[in-house]
Amino acid sequence: MSQITQLLKQHRRNLHTYPETAWTEFQTTWYIYQQLMALPFKLRLGKEILNEAFVLNRDEEEVKSSTKRALNNGVPKEFIHILDEFTGVMATFETHKSGPTFVLRFDIDALPIQETEDAQHLPNLLGFRSRHDNCMHACGHDFHTAIGLVLAKWISEQRAKLRGKIILLFQPAEEGSRGARAVSASGLLDEADYFAAAHVGMMARTGEVVIDPYGFLCGTKFNVDFKGRAAHCASEPEAGKNALAAACSAFMLLQGISRSSKGASRINVGKLSGGRGRNIIPDQAYMEIDLRGETTEVNDYLVKRTQEILKGTAQSLDVQLSIEDLGTVYDIKNDPELVEYLKEVASQCPLVKAVTTHSDFGGSEDASIIIKRIQQLFGKCIYFVIGADRTAGHHQPDFDADEAALEIGFEMFKGLIRKINGC
Ligand SMILES: [Zn+2]
Ligand SMILES: [Zn+2]
Repeated sequence: MSQITQLLKQHRRNLHTYPETAWTEFQTTWYIYQQLMALPFKLRLGKEILNEAFVLNRDEEEVKSSTKRALNNGVPKEFIHILDEFTGVMATFETHKSGPTFVLRFDIDALPIQETEDAQHLPNLLGFRSRHDNCMHACGHDFHTAIGLVLAKWISEQRAKLRGKIILLFQPAEEGSRGARAVSASGLLDEADYFAAAHVGMMARTGEVVIDPYGFLCGTKFNVDFKGRAAHCASEPEAGKNALAAACSAFMLLQGISRSSKGASRINVGKLSGGRGRNIIPDQAYMEIDLRGETTEVNDYLVKRTQEILKGTAQSLDVQLSIEDLGTVYDIKNDPELVEYLKEVASQCPLVKAVTTHSDFGGSEDASIIIKRIQQLFGKCIYFVIGADRTAGHHQPDFDADEAALEIGFEMFKGLIRKINGC
């Protein structure tokens, strides 16, 4: 086994043993920091890498309990203090030679899933199963992080042969499409000329690299509150303002949004509740809305119509409206220049058995938020898939992926760095 393979597996297995869910990756961040601190990277940690105003769906209680767990597991108090309640690492390598800035993103979070007890499951067989209850790397982000760490080592060894700037982003909270939004809003990645990210497994088998996948679902989630005024339904109903009536009107009108000719769309009000009791004019109502579009354009159309309907109904029934935006993910369009680069890298790598151009990704990816911003600033981006045989689907308790994907992933990113930042 080559030294690189050994190191990749070692990192992956260490990370797999101590998984942490979105926004709680304190021990993982400490692990990453320990690997990078002796290397010639400028490190930004925790709160430094994101814009707090754009942080969504972060559970304070979960953050507290996982901070405690990290401290119990030996993460130094001073380090937790530096992170300032947030997680993730941005590692910047300056060659001090003019050249492009290349950002590579690796997501680091796990899922609230209890890992299988099955004795044949590799982490059980080799003793690296999750030691955290109800938490597991069941999406393969342990693979991604391991690849990023070994790349950091490679970059520092190759420094004489590199130009420009390389930023390795170890991003928190990919699951639920949360982390990329806050990191991207920090503006720290705005200087990127190039950006790359990838996922292991998904629709591709070991040895296959999908260089230009399609089918990234766009979507937006809203939580909506209508607030009216309660009153006695018989003695003084005119003093009330009916929030439930506004929510129900909005519900009906949302179902009636015209379909778009530009692509497939979905709209679902998955939850609607309100009111307090039989003889009280309902002063509050709540709804949860899920919008999806085949493209950003279709999704934007649904978002706009939905907001108009919500505002219109609130106004017509004289109640107050508040819309909590839980974030949007976008579709991804790779830049042809990078697809060509990766095609060349993949075709020349002996570990790669098949280079596939198009294949349906069939999921959402929060890297799309970073990609959208960088492309608006004229940077070039790629998202690709590193095939890996799987024992089960992503997000399942018996998920495991072929570790052969580690070295292939490493080779792909390394090849891209050589093409972009090579002298
Ligand atoms: Zn996932
Ligand atoms: Zn994932």
